[in-house]
Amino acid sequence: MNQVYDVLIIGGGVVGSAIAREFSRYKLKIAVLEKELDVCCETSGRNSGVLHGGFTYKPGSLRALCSVEGNAEFDKVAEELDVPFRRTGKVVVGFTDSDMQSLLKYKAVGEENGVPGLEIIDKKRLEELDPSAGGEFAMYSPTSGILNPFIYTIALAENAKQNGAEFFFDNEVTGIKRVGAIYEVTTTKTVYKSRWVVNSAGLNSAKISTMLGIDGYTIGGFKGEYIILDKNAGRYINMPVYPAPGPTGGFATHATPTVDGNVLIGPDSELVEDFEDYTVTTPSFEDLIIDGQKMFKYVKKEYFIRGFAGIRPKRINKETKQALDFVLEAREETPNAINLVGIESPGVTSALPLARRTVALFRKKEKLVKNTKFNPKRKGIVSFAKQSDKGKKALIKKDPNYGEIICRCETITKAEILQAVHNSLGVATVTGIKNRTRAMMGRCQGGFCETRITEIIQRELGKKETEVIYSKPGSAMFTGKVRI
Ligand SMILES: Cc1cc2nc3c(=O)[nH]c(=O)nc-3n(C[C@H](O)[C@H](O)[C@H](O)COP(=O)(O)OP(=O)(O)OC[C@H]3O[C@@H](n4cnc5c(N)ncnc54)[C@H](O)[C@@H]3O)c2cc1C
Repeated sequence: MNQVYDVLIIGGGVVGSAIAREFSRYKLKIAVLEKELDVCCETSGRNSGVLHGGFTYKPGSLRALCSVEGNAEFDKVAEELDVPFRRTGKVVVGFTDSDMQSLLKYKAVGEENGVPGLEIIDKKRLEELDPSAGGEFAMYSPTSGILNPFIYTIALAENAKQNGAEFFFDNEVTGIKRVGAIYEVTTTKTVYKSRWVVNSAGLNSAKISTMLGIDGYTIGGFKGEYIILDKNAGRYINMPVYPAPGPTGGFATHATPTVDGNVLIGPDSELVEDFEDYTVTTPSFEDLIIDGQKMFKYVKKEYFIRGFAGIRPKRINKETKQALDFVLEAREETPNAINLVGIESPGVTSALPLARRTVALFRKKEKLVKNTKFNPKRKGIVSFAKQSDKGKKALIKKDPNYGEIICRCETITKAEILQAVHNSLGVATVTGIKNRTRAMMGRCQGGFCETRITEIIQRELGKKETEVIYSKPGSAMFTGKVRI
């Protein structure tokens, strides 16, 4: 490719997409390279979806600064980008004296970080806030919330694209070379040229650092498994319920409502070598039930829909395996390269503050000219299920495809599927439709609608049946002709 970009961002997770959006406020040629076929295929689509308050991170650390800043601005961001979000508050519950000591410690840490409104509450108040929560007492964080992490990442990417950034999927970066003042970034598809490179490659951020000539980082992959409960359990829970952190500081299994009405039970934590090991396992499943029941009284097998796993990309001290702060740096010896390493939790909450700091590092070296056409607003797909009866009628009148239900469990209409198929990022996978609409996320997990959606993708995009991909390159839905 002969085009020379101003900024080339490696990784289309929430952080890379937020960075692309921030750069698109200026007159720059921006490209995002992503190895998968869509944004949010790795950690950004495999997490609890909690907007964290920022009370467990070391005062003054980048994690503390970015989470508090990201939390405070999220109502405005959610409104601009049409992202499902609720400021539910959160309770961190305890049972023992040492739990109380832990809560008092993190309340003090939170106050030092500038987290507003933290209070220790007794059982009576805990029951008023969330009758389904376990615990004898709790710390209440009123500013915590829940958001849809798929839609947030997609919205950031779509808004960046609408403002001029380009996204290239199925492009795994395999090598980086600096030739004069230009970086040549080799992918599995071609070679891209750019004046600046940003590494936001999540679990592969240490590998990309090495390609840039920055050695010495180690990423530990801490896998966490979850169980998803259906909406019949979701009606009992008001807010995320977390256990008091143990002596090492991390949270164990919690219960979290999703913005769509489900409940997540998890994650646990296990150090894994394989960064693509998203298997769900029986031992974890059994432990999640035991630990989850301490947080949420309705962890019952009849509510289980499915499991999933995510892997936290923690930057660790190689010897002690202790987790370290986020890295965001621009080094003199690797000019025009911005490196983000170890963006583990709370990376969703922190994405925009990290993105602004990335642009600030660029600005230290170059003058930025405003993109006067920048529009911060992006509209999502209008959900039929969330409308009143009157709203539903109006939608059907405007577009009769709103009158045809494709996904029965989640009441997703043909109109929504069609809008998702013709998404502005050009994503054509079945999971791409799932993440944009919630079709196939209900009780039957696509048993009824998956083939119908495949057929719609095929017809709308003029593909053969063997060309419709489930999620990853090579995961064809069909290997030959099928009768639907
Ligand atoms: C179990 C769990 C729970 C969490 N809960 C929360 C929470 O509740 N709230 C919160 O704020 N945060 C949470 N997090 C953290 C949050 O999910 C991450 O910090 C965030 O998603 C990181 O985003 P990212 O863009 O840096 O990484 P990613 O989403 O992993 O994006 C990196 C992208 O780079 C791509 N890539 C990698 N290598 C290459 C290459 N060579 N070439 C091209 N592309 C490449 C990947 O495919 C990927 O899409 C949680 C994480 C986990 C695992």
